[in-house]
Amino acid sequence: MTKNRPVTDIFRLLADDTRVDILRAVAVSQYELEQVGSGAAELAFSEIYEHVDVENTSKLSYHLGELTGTYLRKSDDGYSLSHAGERIVRFILSGNYEQPESFGPEPVDGVCVFCGEEALEAKLSHQFFRIDCTACEQQVTGQPITPAQVRTRDDDSLVQSVKLRTAEDARQIRQGMCPECGAHLSADVVAVPESPLPDADSFVVTSTCEECLREYNSPLTYSVVYHPASIAFHWDRGIDVTARGIWEFHEHVYEGHWTSEQTASDPEEYEVVLRHGDDAVRLYLDSAATVVETERVRGASGEF
Ligand SMILES: [Zn+2]
Ligand SMILES: [Zn+2]
Repeated sequence: MTKNRPVTDIFRLLADDTRVDILRAVAVSQYELEQVGSGAAELAFSEIYEHVDVENTSKLSYHLGELTGTYLRKSDDGYSLSHAGERIVRFILSGNYEQPESFGPEPVDGVCVFCGEEALEAKLSHQFFRIDCTACEQQVTGQPITPAQVRTRDDDSLVQSVKLRTAEDARQIRQGMCPECGAHLSADVVAVPESPLPDADSFVVTSTCEECLREYNSPLTYSVVYHPASIAFHWDRGIDVTARGIWEFHEHVYEGHWTSEQTASDPEEYEVVLRHGDDAVRLYLDSAATVVETERVRGASGEF
């Protein structure tokens, strides 16, 4: 779509109150009409006319014509939202173009990955949910957040939602899918020997989306936490890692219970060990940080 038309033309189409009202009206009408499992309803011209404050049918017809192809699809049964229409109208309805309300600073559980202190505090910094250590004054994590995410929750539920989003995004990233735009992601493992992180993990997985240019970085140990072998290993020990925030993993790296190392080069291979008590799960990764094999190990402190 944007390959052939200037992007400014696409956005210029929306610089009109009636057209924004039409998109909103389509979403509202679909919401009112839809039965569970029926899929997105297609709306007749007359249904849209009922919901939009427009002088006459020829004006509505003109605006519908302008929106069709970019924001609306038209079939014999009527109008429905296109992909761009869906994205834009959900963005408008959710108010995600506003600034998020303020939050924090609130103390949160977990230890600082740099100094090991239990002195973490969460707050919003622009569009990011950010956690800083009040002991060493370093930022320990930052996650993008939406205004609707903040507006519809109390403090505890907001922190939970950040954990959930992180876990969901990490699962997609690990499978090579950009959580932002859905495009394919490629991953590389980068050694960061001068990293301020503890020596237990000096590798970072960096995944870049060639389409929307979002970049995702994660310590190698954290990149496998949501692998089914890790989820099951922890679940068997009473821990639901999918309900934990990234900052709650820091103590494992800080204390050296979670480690990574490079085991081969050309091509590179890596090994991550996540220890819990006397047991451990060992994950073998290829050069693109894909887990190729896993095994559980029983033994004293997981030292082997
Ligand atoms: Zn600290
Ligand atoms: Zn993307």
